[in-house]
Parts: sequence; structure tokens; C-alpha cells
Amino acid sequence: MYDKIIKYAEELDQVSRERRRDFHRYPETAWYEVRTSAVIAKILTELGYEVLTGKAVCLESARCGVPLAENLKEHAEAVYSQGAPEKYVTEEMKQGFTGVIGILRCGEGPVVALRFDIDALGMQENETPEHRPFAEGFSSRNPGWMHACGHDAHAAMGLGVAQVLMKIKDSLHGTVKLIFQPGEEGAKGAAPIVAAGHLDDVDYFAGTHVAPTGGPDDGDVTPGTWGSLATSKYDVYFKGQAAHAGGFPENGRSAIVAAANAVLNLTAIPRHSGGISRVNVGVIQGGSSRNVIPDSAMIMLEVRGETTAINAYMDQQAKRICQAAAEMTDCTCQIVFQGGAESQQSDEDFLTWIGEEVRQHLPHLTVSSCENAQNWGSEDISLMMNRVQARGGKAVYMRSVTDMASAQHTTGFDFDERVLVQGIETFSLIVYGLLKGNPPL
Ligand SMILES: [Zn+2]
Repeated sequence: MYDKIIKYAEELDQVSRERRRDFHRYPETAWYEVRTSAVIAKILTELGYEVLTGKAVCLESARCGVPLAENLKEHAEAVYSQGAPEKYVTEEMKQGFTGVIGILRCGEGPVVALRFDIDALGMQENETPEHRPFAEGFSSRNPGWMHACGHDAHAAMGLGVAQVLMKIKDSLHGTVKLIFQPGEEGAKGAAPIVAAGHLDDVDYFAGTHVAPTGGPDDGDVTPGTWGSLATSKYDVYFKGQAAHAGGFPENGRSAIVAAANAVLNLTAIPRHSGGISRVNVGVIQGGSSRNVIPDSAMIMLEVRGETTAINAYMDQQAKRICQAAAEMTDCTCQIVFQGGAESQQSDEDFLTWIGEEVRQHLPHLTVSSCENAQNWGSEDISLMMNRVQARGGKAVYMRSVTDMASAQHTTGFDFDERVLVQGIETFSLIVYGLLKGNPPL
């Protein structure tokens, strides 16, 4: 069977590269992933998976940061000209209920869930001949949006895994859930999937992220990572009173002064002895004219913490400071939650088992030690992992290591697509090992 897994994965090399390039050409950011979801739903349906889309994937009340209805509508109309499979574009997808879950039921046995995130970033792709996606004609057709983190790779990997598992399903005993998650950037998409209960029956859970070579001990596969930061993200709207800046300044209440006070004091939150913390205001906007006391301003802020508790401390301080800054200038402020993640830990026994399986059955791949796989970013896969672990299941967050042309979240990002087959065979191996009978853990 192990030879078959390798062979089936190899056979998907070309189609996986094509799928990745198709996703790359039509990137979609959080809750706009209509075309992406429709393409995934089509492939999974045709393979014979039980497919969930729309409100069956994401619980409506647990979504945050959903774009304006008119913006969603405008994008949803555009996807047809970009080759979205019409039959699979649903009304709910058009309203921002993106994401897809494919389920394969193979009788009695454990439930294994794999997570692949599918969203892009709001940034403009490099359009110079040195950038391979541009030179080879698969750079972004959606201005201001780009797959610059590799989620196009994750989506293509997930579809490849779906194909391999369908081929070997007679040897599997249990259930597989392939979760194609929207809105990972900004940590929006995992919470409504967790809230909908999709992780509640999961015994084993794994996800991966492409990562660059050049680390302390490169391998192709890192079976587990540590320490990604808990985070909360907010948009804060300050409201004041406009007035003539020369004639009657005493009648005005400056929202910009309130926002500025908030920014300075946010950076002055006392650091926590318990571990790492972060705070950043990434955007500030406000006002309308030089000679008008500004009645509106907004900031986009985020806090992070090494543990969920430290993040909660930063979160409370940040909200208090915004309120107090508004009050200081007799303004009001509205704090709108835009996404969040918890801290996470991969299960030691699970990641050790994965490392051994890969070494033994995929000998052409090298396994890196997890010791240095510490990550000071944030990932909302943590919400899924923590849910599974809280109910007694095992969870890992892995790395798929590959050469990159430029760092993640930069306009020249690109990677060696060989990682697609490596991811497909690794995940197919993991599922097979867990569901071939007598679960090893
Ligand atoms: Zn990412």
C-alpha cells in the first residue's frame, strides 16, 4: 500500500501544479472565496465525497469581519468570467459563506480531520519578469489580491489527498474530513467552523503550512510546531464632533486626537512577566479636511500573547485604553472584533509517530526535528486543535518545507511546487496509518 500511495501521489504532480496555478491566478481574500470554494466543491463532488458548503460549513453567528454585502455581490458576479463552475456557485457562497468540507465515510473507526486553508492576502502581486508567476502567466488577475502565503498550495494539496484517499478507501476504516478553511489571514475562518461542531467528533487532526528552507535543520516535513501566538484583532472607530478649526474649535471634539492617544498608549501597555506579548496598530485613518476638527477616525490594531491568558491580558488592556482615550477627548469609540486565535501545542506522541511513519514509508523525504519549529506568528488552526485536544483527540500543526523565491507575505512570493506531491503523500500516509485498523495512538 505504501508504494501505491507514493505512486498515486506522483501521478498527481502535474494536475496539482495546474490546480495551484489556477488558485494562484484567481486569489480571493476572506469570505470572498467563492470561485475557490466552487472549484473545490466540484472536484470533491466528482470524486464522490459527501460535500458541505455554505452555512453548513460556517456557523453564521460566529463569523466576524464579513465584507459589506454590496462588495460580496460585486465579486460574486465577477467569478463567472473567471471560469467558476456555475453549478457549484451557491447563493450562500455569494453571501460570504465560503469554505468546503469533504467527508469520506469508510465504516466504523476513528475520525481523522485535515485542514487546508484557501484564502489569499490583500496585496498586489509583483509584475516583473523576474517573478515566475508573472513570467509564466499565472499571476493574480484580481488587482490587490495575491496568494502570497501559499494557501494556493494548501488547497491543491488537499484536493490531491482527496484523490489518493478515494483510491485507497477500501483499505480505510473510519471517517475522513477534509476541511478547506476560508479566512485564515486575519484569523477569521476557523472559529465559525469550530462553532458549527465539525471538530467535535474528531480523534486525529492535522494541518500544515508551507515553510521556507534555510532553517536550522531543514527537512521536507516537520511533523509538529510549537508556540504560535494567541491573538485578537480589532477595528476601532472613534467618533467626535466636527467644528470650524479656526472659528469655533471649542465646539469640536477631535476623533483624531482620541485615536492618536490610543495608539501611543497601546504601545505603553506594561509587558507581562508570563511570556511574550505583542501589540501593533497597522492602520490609522481619519479626518476630512485641514480646517475641520475631525469627527471620525479609525485604527486597526492587534495584540498577541504567548499563551491565551497573556493575550487576554493584552486584549483587555487594549480595549480599556481605546475607551479611555476616547473619553479623554469626549469622543466615543466602537470596538469591532475582527478575528482571533489561541496558542497551540502539537501532541508529542502524535508528531513522533508521524515522523517515524514518514521516515519508514516515505524514505525519499527527510524529517526535520520539531525543536526549532517555533513560530511567533499566529494561526487560527489553534482553535481547531484546541477543540480536538479538549475532547481527548490528538492534533498537530506541521510544516511542508520548500524553496521559496521570496518570503511569505511579500509581493514576489513563490515556491517550489514539488512540495505539492510531498504534502499529498505525507497526508495520505498519515490517514492510511490511522485508519488501516488498530489505530496506533
Ligand atoms: Zn498562511
